[in-house]
Amino acid sequence: MDSAGRYAPSPSGDLHVGNLRTALLAWMFARATGRRFRLRVEDLDRARSGSAQRQLADLAALGIAWDGDVVVQSDHAVQYAEALETLRERGLVYECFCTRREIAEAASAPHAAPGAYPGTCRNLDDAERAQRRASGRPPALRLRAGVDAFTVHDVLAGDWTGLVDDLVLVRNDGTVAYNFAVVLDDGEMGIDQVVRGDDLLASSPRQAYLATVLGLTPPTYVHVPLVLGPTGDRLAKRDGAVTLRELVAAGHSAADVLGLIADSLGLPGVRSAAGLLAAFDPAGLPRAPWTFSAPVTHPA
Ligand code: GLU
Repeated sequence: MDSAGRYAPSPSGDLHVGNLRTALLAWMFARATGRRFRLRVEDLDRARSGSAQRQLADLAALGIAWDGDVVVQSDHAVQYAEALETLRERGLVYECFCTRREIAEAASAPHAAPGAYPGTCRNLDDAERAQRRASGRPPALRLRAGVDAFTVHDVLAGDWTGLVDDLVLVRNDGTVAYNFAVVLDDGEMGIDQVVRGDDLLASSPRQAYLATVLGLTPPTYVHVPLVLGPTGDRLAKRDGAVTLRELVAAGHSAADVLGLIADSLGLPGVRSAAGLLAAFDPAGLPRAPWTFSAPVTHPA
């Protein structure tokens, strides 16, 4: 059995320093623990043409090397359909006709678990289902979950228990949902270590539970702090020169950008990926978000 970590960007635009920092951390955690390091392009939605190639080139420019072929989610339609069929045969899939608004209203009822799908369509009888189908709204497909919470192990957050609900497997436009695709692909790729931004910590109990339903072992997680822009919000395009290409266009080298990221990881003076890996100490990782402001340019 492979043992591997991964980085799984959505090809929706160029990677900014926050994404690049997470990618470097994922690469370092994998390499420092003797794992392979895989890349996966998560292009089921929000894909912009040419973006994946640019992202891969930027990762390579920083000195990140990966193992094996790059996996592309849109190549996996057959695997997703097969896994869905298996769950369906086990009676674990149901149609959900709810609109966002209906879910929000039901979820705000007294005693509803905050953020959980309230199960409105879970036990529709045949007549009710026929009536909903006749309304013309295509259904999403949900997992009939057997638990309402699950505990994951996170290297930074420790044992972390979070909500599990009847999560969406296929959206009502027919797109395979992120949570389902991630779990299937991580399983298929032999991923047993997931390093990513801590905005996804709350999704990890759902994903880990779904893995167990599919007969897979949940990975070890490392949810790392996000990078913030000068306003204190999550770093974004509006914050100026934030991508590698923008920073290079402003006169900084890839080594300069790597040096900024190394600084933020408490490793000043390091200017290469190999140097980062040599100095990497997971126990010494800063636990607070890094606030990034584009460095002043010094014209040559
Ligand atoms: N594709 C997701 C993103 O770019 C990351 C998913 C994951 O790492 O599980 O936010």
